[in-house]
Amino acid sequence: MPPEFLARMNHLLGADYDAFAASYTQPPHMGLRVNTLKVPVADFISKWPFALKPVGAYAPAGFLVTDESKPGSHPAHAAGLYYLQEPSAMAVAPLVDPQPGEWVLDIAAAPGGKATHLAALLGSGLPGSSGLLVANDIDAKRAGILVENLERWGVRNALVTNAHPEHLAQQFGPVFDKVLVDAPCSGEGMFRRLGAFDWSQTTVLACARRQTAVLATAAQLVKPGGRLIYATCTFAPEENEMVIARFLQDHADFALVDPPRHQGFDRGRPSWVGDDLPGDTLDKTIRLWPHRFPGEGHFIAVMQRTDTKKPARITTHRRLNPGRLEKPQASDLKAWRAFAQATLRDPWPEERMRLRNGRLTLLPEEALETGTVKCVRYGLLLGECRKGYFKPAHALALALRADDVVTAVDFPPETSEIMAYLSGHDLPLMVKGRKGWGLITVGGFPVGWGKIANGRVKNHYPHGLRQRTD
Ligand code: SAM
Repeated sequence: MPPEFLARMNHLLGADYDAFAASYTQPPHMGLRVNTLKVPVADFISKWPFALKPVGAYAPAGFLVTDESKPGSHPAHAAGLYYLQEPSAMAVAPLVDPQPGEWVLDIAAAPGGKATHLAALLGSGLPGSSGLLVANDIDAKRAGILVENLERWGVRNALVTNAHPEHLAQQFGPVFDKVLVDAPCSGEGMFRRLGAFDWSQTTVLACARRQTAVLATAAQLVKPGGRLIYATCTFAPEENEMVIARFLQDHADFALVDPPRHQGFDRGRPSWVGDDLPGDTLDKTIRLWPHRFPGEGHFIAVMQRTDTKKPARITTHRRLNPGRLEKPQASDLKAWRAFAQATLRDPWPEERMRLRNGRLTLLPEEALETGTVKCVRYGLLLGECRKGYFKPAHALALALRADDVVTAVDFPPETSEIMAYLSGHDLPLMVKGRKGWGLITVGGFPVGWGKIANGRVKNHYPHGLRQRTD
């Protein structure tokens, strides 16, 4: 731990410092959040072999993993049944409080911990669910990981963008009911897990400048009456109370909300902002401390846009013509239909299907014009239309349920076949009278596609996700 960091914390925490410092001698908490889009929490607990302890009422789908099991390499993880997330990070999405039908923006979303949680609360993986999640990250590589995680989660109503926040503000304007800024920060709450390699007072101040800029831009995307939520996983007042105080000073149309307090939810410290900034309402913010809460630590501020003037632009965004996606040609739809008729039980809404570079996508029920914003995923990727042939996407497999398809080949999680499938091997399996595309499922939950022919299942698990066996 950098001595300068410890000295700062000693100065800030006073009598609490010893307990704070002692928390660094404990191992970090391993958290697991159940994907309620796919499985009810009670079913998950009774069926899957993990030793779990509820994190508390603040996140009913969240648990601490209390044994040495490695849930990250279990087949249920490949099926998207849970996300491994540090417990204090699980407090954020419930405070965003997305309601079905709302438009929610997660402006710094990669790798997707909070975005998957928001999607679950929004019901974004359920057929026919309304509302829209826009998950953005400025970093292209990280935006790719975000796509992967949202796909495994089975999300249908999401749009993943890779843009600077200012670009989003120019393109969309104030159309979102809720905007989350899970800000890039100096990561003091991650020291126990990741170490304190890059920490310095200079980093803290540089982060604070960037956070101030991102938050001001994010405010331009909040609908009148909507909410803006700011979170960090750091303890520095410069990146927390001071960012919020400065923001409120410059934005008279926003005010802090005092959210419900759960056990271990401490208050922000008005006295830490100094005399130059107004601190009077900052005790409405939340601080989760590693010595008072079973998690690594977070700061959370929930703000409401107080003016209720209706924005002029919103109706123009509700058209179904998002950027650079085309209507599929008759030949594309023919390929899709041949696949769908042989593979899927129910009809799918072709009027919401769009094509880009041969890839067929199902748009969410509500769509947003993306213009020049780089959009890496728009709704649910169905697959590729090739000449007279349709190849289903992994994302489609993970968004389906076993009973959505004509053929599902199930393996219990502990079988060698499922590990062989996840490592990329074909399965020597007789499925009498069946051929064509089938879902491979583990304990009833899809993990990917297989193509059945001549009594074998050809492996279509994506190469990039295959588990190494050496
Ligand atoms: N919300 C994520 C989750 O729960 O998994 C974690 C987000 S992480 C704390 C912060 C993210 O902000 C990083 O993915 C980073 O790429 C992104 N970022 C960095 N600079 C940014 C900026 N100027 N504007 C927006 N996002 C930025």
